Amino acid sequence: MSDPVLQVRDLKKHFPVRTGVLSRVTNHVKAVDGLTFDIMPGETFALVGESGCGKSTTGRTILRLTGATGGQVLYNGEDVLGAAGERMRKLRKEMQIVFQDPYSALNPRMTVGAAIGEILRVHGIATGTGARERVEEVLVRCGLEPYHFDRYPHEFSGGQRQRVVIARALALDPRFIVADEPISALDVSIQSQIINLLEDLQDSFNLTYLFISHDLGVVRHMADRVGVMYLGKLVEVADKREFYREPLHPYSQALLSAIPVSDPAVKKKRIILKGDVPSPANPPAGCPFHTRCPKVMDVCRSVVPELKSTPSGHQVACHLIHPPR
Ligand code: SF4
Repeated sequence: MSDPVLQVRDLKKHFPVRTGVLSRVTNHVKAVDGLTFDIMPGETFALVGESGCGKSTTGRTILRLTGATGGQVLYNGEDVLGAAGERMRKLRKEMQIVFQDPYSALNPRMTVGAAIGEILRVHGIATGTGARERVEEVLVRCGLEPYHFDRYPHEFSGGQRQRVVIARALALDPRFIVADEPISALDVSIQSQIINLLEDLQDSFNLTYLFISHDLGVVRHMADRVGVMYLGKLVEVADKREFYREPLHPYSQALLSAIPVSDPAVKKKRIILKGDVPSPANPPAGCPFHTRCPKVMDVCRSVVPELKSTPSGHQVACHLIHPPR
């Protein structure tokens, strides 16, 4: 068995909350609070959960687009959070991101060719004619035309812009891509085209994806393994088939019960969660989900459940599955 491409260990990202005229730090928002997981070569690992659960912050912290508060990220065994200089430049080339909103991800004053060409120049890959050839090559590979090199972002449709964003990530020949809600800003009619493109590129270039999404229907199609986040923590990690067949965490069960079923003969009971997600600045004691859990027990209000594996390798943080001793 090969080694993981990415190893995330106890990753934390806490944002300070400042109050008063002196802007004193009075609290912290624990957006990412102790995540540990691996991603294998060529795998798509999906992070799912409601908005605000810390999925996007996790992706950005792994790529060092925002600084980590603690923990470790290893990319092919190399320490990402501690890398500097040439080593960091090499890591940045291999680890790319596709953002959710293709409208704000592109500079409106630069042609697509100039924007992607600049990235190639900064990384010392190509300039001049060589850069033009490389940019046209990745545009075509992403379903665009060579003449799009000279176009500005406003001249593209939403789907085409996301293709440009993907081409920009692909230009540096990366191995690992964080796809942060890559289709949620697009019309439903073109979402599947972008999903097909991401899958096609993964097959062609043996890419590894961290796929961030709130859409469990898309994740079912796209992922190999699924990690469910709640209030900055992973509450369940499982192989996709096992996760959709038998989710173990009550939060995952509620999320999956909300997916529409196409067959009217299949009756599915929707689990409606009560209340809102608590503030990550003031998370509940014990199990972070206990304020909304339909199966809450006394122990859940005081003892934090650890993310532990079942014999089949299905990880879950719940006292129902792993009763405290
Ligand atoms: Fe629900 Fe308790 Fe399990 Fe938390 S530990 S998910 S509150 S049953």
